Amino acid sequence: MIKLNTTEFESKVLRVRQETPEIKSFHFSTPPEFSFKPAQHIVLELPVGGKGQKKSFSISSSPITNGYLETTKRMSQSEYSKVMCSLKPGDKVRIKGPYGMFLLDEKRDAIMLAGGIGITPFKNMIEYATEKKLPINITLVLSNKTPEEIPFMEELSALEGKNKNLKIVHTITRPQESKSTGNWKGSTGRINKEIISSIERFKEKIYYICGPPSMVNEVNALLLDLGIKKEQIKLERFTGYNGDE
Ligand SMILES: Cc1cc2nc3c(=O)[nH]c(=O)nc-3n(C[C@H](O)[C@H](O)[C@H](O)COP(=O)(O)OP(=O)(O)OC[C@H]3O[C@@H](n4cnc5c(N)ncnc54)[C@H](O)[C@@H]3O)c2cc1C
Repeated sequence: MIKLNTTEFESKVLRVRQETPEIKSFHFSTPPEFSFKPAQHIVLELPVGGKGQKKSFSISSSPITNGYLETTKRMSQSEYSKVMCSLKPGDKVRIKGPYGMFLLDEKRDAIMLAGGIGITPFKNMIEYATEKKLPINITLVLSNKTPEEIPFMEELSALEGKNKNLKIVHTITRPQESKSTGNWKGSTGRINKEIISSIERFKEKIYYICGPPSMVNEVNALLLDLGIKKEQIKLERFTGYNGDE
């Protein structure tokens, strides 16, 4: 039986950071009784058109950080997104959580497959695994449209330097739209069978897939085709995003 420790609280914006031209991260204060597992999500309520509107966000910071949680949003043209984009330190919001069963198995080697903003729960899990020195091998495969749109590039490189059990593979789906593709040394194209089957002992590991629903469904089908068992695969679909956004 899993104990639910969901709570609702008023939170203060502590920090806002532009991660890429389209992505912003936010630090929200948390009360002492708030705790979560890597990588659960919260529901963030913002005042939109005079009413409270709620959306889900994975927590992109590790549970080991105290006093705040980080969420990271791909900005869009929606009214909710505009309100979120205009948040500044000191503003108040309402948060409820944590929720979700997209949890890190602390004992098994992992292959994490992220589409764009789907990196958020993996940043949480990888920071946690690194801080706790978990003895598991992690391969993160991160697919983005262009190199400029890769969120947390510096943090991810620093984590790779700190954690000898972590390997990060980038793939770019729209190299023609990049201003700097000439320098790009990683793979191009979507996450595919070649990338996955080149990972050592890929048939034995636990898979985590996160991103827009279409990406999650496509990659899940690809894993099943490769002979990976359903029980080895955990899915987190970011409903609200469609296609190759
Ligand atoms: C478990 C879970 C975890 C999640 N974690 C994250 C996360 O970590 N980060 C994250 O970014 N998202 C996350 N999501 C998705 C998130 O909850 C939102 O659904 C998503 O951010 C889209 O919300 P939105 O308000 O930007 O767009 P929506 O209102 O859902 O609109 C969808 C599309 O329509 C367009 N649109 C909407 N209104 C207008 C308008 N008035 N004019 C023009 N275009 C418009 C938008 O540009 C957008 O492309 C998560 C979802 C789930 C279920």
